Amino acid sequence: MATVLALDVGGTKLAAAVVDDSGRMLGRGRVPSPTDPDPELLYEALLACAAAALRGADVIPGDLDGIGVAAAGPMVWPSGEVSPLNMPAWRGFPLRKRLAEEFASERVLIHNDAVGLTVGEHWKGAGSGTSNLLGITVSTGVGGGLILDGRLYHGFSGNAGHIGHVVVELDGPACACGGRGCLEAIASGPNAVRHALDDGWRPRPGVVADGVALAAAAAAGDEVALRNVARAGRAAGTAIASCASLLDLEVVAIVGGFSQSGPSFWEPLQRAFTTHAGFPFAAACRVVPGQLGEAAGLLGAAAFVLDPDRYGWDPDPATGH
Ligand SMILES: [Zn+2]
Repeated sequence: MATVLALDVGGTKLAAAVVDDSGRMLGRGRVPSPTDPDPELLYEALLACAAAALRGADVIPGDLDGIGVAAAGPMVWPSGEVSPLNMPAWRGFPLRKRLAEEFASERVLIHNDAVGLTVGEHWKGAGSGTSNLLGITVSTGVGGGLILDGRLYHGFSGNAGHIGHVVVELDGPACACGGRGCLEAIASGPNAVRHALDDGWRPRPGVVADGVALAAAAAAGDEVALRNVARAGRAAGTAIASCASLLDLEVVAIVGGFSQSGPSFWEPLQRAFTTHAGFPFAAACRVVPGQLGEAAGLLGAAAFVLDPDRYGWDPDPATGH
């Protein structure tokens, strides 16, 4: 039985798990991401998280078949120098090299966190058994990953799947990428909340104005909240229709953001999707919530190593490692 160490490096939390080739998590660790600007403190916290997972699984590093990492972007791929947007402690941090030395392993594979959760949902979740999946994550940004013809699709620079920057509104709001009218500029948590506040939405006293509060207000029937959650849903449905036409997808799985918030998001999304997915092949694509929640990224990271034929790659083409 193969076992790998899976790591999930995010702006708010660090998570680790020892995962076997059936997808079972044998041990887990989790800590809030340190906010200290010292890059070594952040690295130590990640190692402590990994040590907790190894202890829980009763596995020693020498028994591991490799290490898979899903990390917040951007990063240089496949060499694994990471600069997570919300973690200023790491800028060009050589995470792959450090982990390879630390665990004396050449099989260290690092990819974008949205790619990790897409692979997780394909391996064990909403895309299981399909060959053409788009995974989408909605949080502070909007990211994605692609499985095409049954295999993880990287693109030229490892950046394939960036659905957050598919344009859904010509001359729309400015986006962090430098463009305008991107899905992310409309449907990410912070951007949706900002637009709702400008539109007159006010959370109940004592409640933080975030995406969770906006979704709750919509579910409770607040008209401004409903209008703004619907706007995010429409933008997502429009972008997904374009992707379904371009890529001939079977399933789109959405994780995070408003994806768990019921009809106030999903009905406008499905209406926009139906409006814009004109051809029957595109309209046949199913758009569903992800099934694995927070485990998706860890399972995907594990699958990079555990199922190299479908999800792996050569991390160092120059040397063949
Ligand atoms: Zn953009």
